[in-house]
Order: sequence, then C-alpha cells, then structure tokens
Amino acid sequence: MRVALPIALLALALGQIRDGTALAQGATPAGEAANISTTPPPVRPDRSSPRKQIEPAPQSDPDSMAFGPPAPPDWWLERPSEQEFAACMLALNMLGTQYTLPPTVSDPDNGDCGIARPVLVDQIIPGVTLQGKAMMQCATARALALWTREFVVPAAATLQGAPRITGMTPGSTYHCRARIGTGNSRPKLSEHAKGNAIDIASFQFDGHDPVPIAPRKGKGDRIEAFQRAVRASGCLYFTTVLGPGSNTAHADHLHLDIAQRRGDWRICQ
Ligand SMILES: [Zn+2]
Repeated sequence: MRVALPIALLALALGQIRDGTALAQGATPAGEAANISTTPPPVRPDRSSPRKQIEPAPQSDPDSMAFGPPAPPDWWLERPSEQEFAACMLALNMLGTQYTLPPTVSDPDNGDCGIARPVLVDQIIPGVTLQGKAMMQCATARALALWTREFVVPAAATLQGAPRITGMTPGSTYHCRARIGTGNSRPKLSEHAKGNAIDIASFQFDGHDPVPIAPRKGKGDRIEAFQRAVRASGCLYFTTVLGPGSNTAHADHLHLDIAQRRGDWRICQ
C-alpha cells in the first residue's frame, strides 16, 4: 500500500501532460504551489523503442547511379575546337588545298564512328589531285598536303625523266570499321572510322608510269628508293605509317594516320 500514492500521482501528472494541462516551466499559479512541488518528473521515454527509420532516396536507375551517364562518342571527343579548325583551314588555304566542307558525319550503327568537322579534299596541293576525292579530318588533310609539298614532289622529281607528280589514288579513306587484326571479341576502332587516316595506293605522274605501292624490298631500283623515301618521310607528318611488310593487309598501300599517343609516340614501319 506504500507505493499506491506515488503511482497515483504519476498517473495524474501524465494525464495532465496528455491533456495539455501541465504547467509551463517556471509558471507557479497561486494556490497550486504545494501540488506542483510533489509532482514527480515526467517519465523518460523508453530508449529501447524503435526510432523512425529514414527512407533512402529512391534511385530511378541503379546502373546509371553506379557508372554515371554514358560517355560521348569518340568522334565527338576528337573534334577540333573552332579555333583549331579555323587555323587548320587557313593552313589548307595557304597550301593550296582544294576542299569543301560537308556536314558532320556519323554512323547510325556505331556511335563512335564519325567526323565532327570533315573536309572533302579534291586537290592535295596545286597540281596534285586526290583521285575520287576523300573525306577526312582537317588535320589529316593538312598533314597530307605538307608531306606532299615537302617530300613527295621533290622525291618524284628524282625519278627517271624528272616527272611531275599529278595525283594520288587513295585506298580506304573515311570508313566505319574496326582496326585490322584486333579480333572480334574486343575490336578497336580504326583511325579510318574517325577521319584520322588515309591510305595511298599509287602515285600518278606527268610523263611517267604510275607507281603503285607494292612489296619492293631488294629490287634495288629507283622506284624502290622513291617508295622508301615517301614512306619514311610520311612519319614526319603522320604518327602512323604502315605499308608492305607491316602485315599482309598493307601489302598494296601506305596507311597514314594522325592518331594521338602519349609522348607523341609514332609507329613508323
Ligand atoms: Zn589504312
């Protein structure tokens, strides 16, 4: 019976709190001071009661949250800036390259293929045509024009009768395909698929037979010397030069591209 009174007081106090009739802290109305002094403190909430769980934010697409948005296609990442493209066109104009500006090229079947700002080259430099025209990056056309002016034209003049070079026949130009020899499981995109590459299959002259690219090792003639000279000098302007002997796929043309590699690394074969 001794615990009956405190329990009754506690129940009274709790009832007042629930009803909103408990006194505000510090307030002591007259006539009630004696009752308040004997009122026990409110019961501390039970800490073992489960707390309200904070719901995690809904994720609409778990995969996109894990890996982020898809990367832009290769052709877009390799596009020249407005300034770079303007400087490149100025160089082409000064070199005498004849070209037009087709619209952006992309491929519906492979998002990484394409050229953001292509040029369609008709004449590499004055007097030297690119037969059938070819579409490529401006920087590829600039490398082609510089190589032609600085090395191919002088090399041609050393051939029998000092002929004037009049044109080049391209092999592959822009072509959305995998690099030869990279397999089907993890194919790497060819530089041709981004307008960075051009293949040259043969040279035409005024007053001299055409000179096709062909395996000539050990021939010991002037034509072999010409092919060796243009092939070697190509790597001064392009970062990749492949040809006969590199592999069977390059037995009948020179592959020239401007692929960017760490440290300006070049592959000259
Ligand atoms: Zn090629």
